[in-house]
Amino acid sequence: MNTKYIVVLGSLMSGIGKGIVTSSIAKILSFYDYKVMPLKFDGYLNYDCGTMNPFRHGEVFVLNDGGEVDMDFGNYERFLNKESSSKFSMTGGKIFSDIIKQEREGKFLGYDVQFIPHITNYIIKKIKNIAKEEQLDIMLIEIGGTVGDIENNYFIEAMRQLSLSEQVIFINITYITELKKVGEQKTKPAQLALRNLMELGITPNYIICRSESKINESIKQKISFFSNIKEEAIIDDHDNDNIYEVPLIFMRQNFDKMLLQDLHLTNQLNQSSYNKWKYIIESKSKALDKIKVAVVGKYIKLHDSYASIKEALVHAAYKEHINLDIGWIESEDLEKDKDKNKGMSNILGDYDAILVPGGFGKRGIEGMINAIEYARVNKIPFIGICLGMQLMAVEYARNICKLENANSTEFDENTKYKIIDLMEEQKKTTMKGATMRLGAWQAKLKKDTLAYNIYNLEIVSERHRHRYEFNNEYLEMLQRNGLIISGTTLDNVLVEFIEWKDSFGIGTQSHPELKSKLENPSPFFTAFIKAAIKNKDNKQKHKI
Ligand code: GLN
Repeated sequence: MNTKYIVVLGSLMSGIGKGIVTSSIAKILSFYDYKVMPLKFDGYLNYDCGTMNPFRHGEVFVLNDGGEVDMDFGNYERFLNKESSSKFSMTGGKIFSDIIKQEREGKFLGYDVQFIPHITNYIIKKIKNIAKEEQLDIMLIEIGGTVGDIENNYFIEAMRQLSLSEQVIFINITYITELKKVGEQKTKPAQLALRNLMELGITPNYIICRSESKINESIKQKISFFSNIKEEAIIDDHDNDNIYEVPLIFMRQNFDKMLLQDLHLTNQLNQSSYNKWKYIIESKSKALDKIKVAVVGKYIKLHDSYASIKEALVHAAYKEHINLDIGWIESEDLEKDKDKNKGMSNILGDYDAILVPGGFGKRGIEGMINAIEYARVNKIPFIGICLGMQLMAVEYARNICKLENANSTEFDENTKYKIIDLMEEQKKTTMKGATMRLGAWQAKLKKDTLAYNIYNLEIVSERHRHRYEFNNEYLEMLQRNGLIISGTTLDNVLVEFIEWKDSFGIGTQSHPELKSKLENPSPFFTAFIKAAIKNKDNKQKHKI
């Protein structure tokens, strides 16, 4: 079967949830047993996302193969319950570096290399090759940015050309503004933005309307009238707290059936995979109790920086049938109070569990260490992810082993006690892009440890993204003082999991959040949520 293509483009403004829409469309097609995978194009000239600031761009998502990609890949994997690979991430940087390499090799001898046809042909060929290699029934292509950006213009043109030879459906996501004072939805900005797309020679087959509240019939009529699109192809996607409900919201509007008809696809709905998803979503509304989890980090102002952490917590809460309240705590706020313990309990006292996520750079580190100490001393369930694990070791060295000012050399190069340090091979690295320890790595777990109980496996594989490591010179000393080393790399060289012996506290050098899926939650996060529920129950018993 020839692969069919669905191209998703955003109009008017960024940040309207193209990734969720793309993932949801992929999901509803997968309910019909079609092999589908999203490819994402990002127009920036960075080769990948690895060197971007999470404050500006949101989380850097890491794939099994080590690719550092846009955070939308997290949604693709979480919705589809499948693992993607780097080839599905096309960036301006990758395209141009390939083209220039080819030009130097003489592949274009005699020609002046142009956007049309050279770049557009390159894109079309590349996309078709990936679709063929992966034997996809349907490839979704999400175009990053907004129609009208200079950066993605040539890519949109390539998609127009693709539609001349292949079956391509265009889906435009737009935003319907609402004037609060007048209490009315307005379509004019959406109309003008749509005109931009039509000027590029593309009339979308569907328009998805993002908005604050449900779009009314007159809005649909108006958009339909101005865009030559039938009314039922204008899909409502107004704000909704639960992103995982979007596939069901689309299906309630017959979007699945219309898409299949347009693509001439005849499979029947796989009732069991659809029901499985529906059941998980519906179970949420039945949860009665609620737990509060504190995430103590340094990129708190932009929650997108911790997108996978949030979703992994949500998946685990679904699994344990509990409502979840995440408190996003700026770690610097835990450095301010002179009376440390009082300051901590003012901010953290109300939480059932504490998490310190990954991060880079010195700012806010001492606040995270304070939070870890508070969790350990008060026996509050704790997990430390990557940087969180490194600081868990530093806290232990300082407060239990009494190694004053112990630190990671990332934050204090001259510390006397280098608990966390650069690996030898990292010391030689000068290039910044794609040079961290990246992607899936296996770890072996020690029997009779919390880590082993959590995974119920001897060998586990989780994704990584870091430069610094636990310094084995301190291994013996920290163990002697009670820190449990519960997992290492298969060759015993690098520490992967550490834990406390007296309460639920575990850190991992890896990022288990990156593999968590709604239908397959991370065991690491599930154990954490279970510990939080237990802690809350105990607190309540003591109150009685
Ligand atoms: N900054 C630390 C390192 O590079 C931790 C990285 C992370 O948390 N992802 O090792």
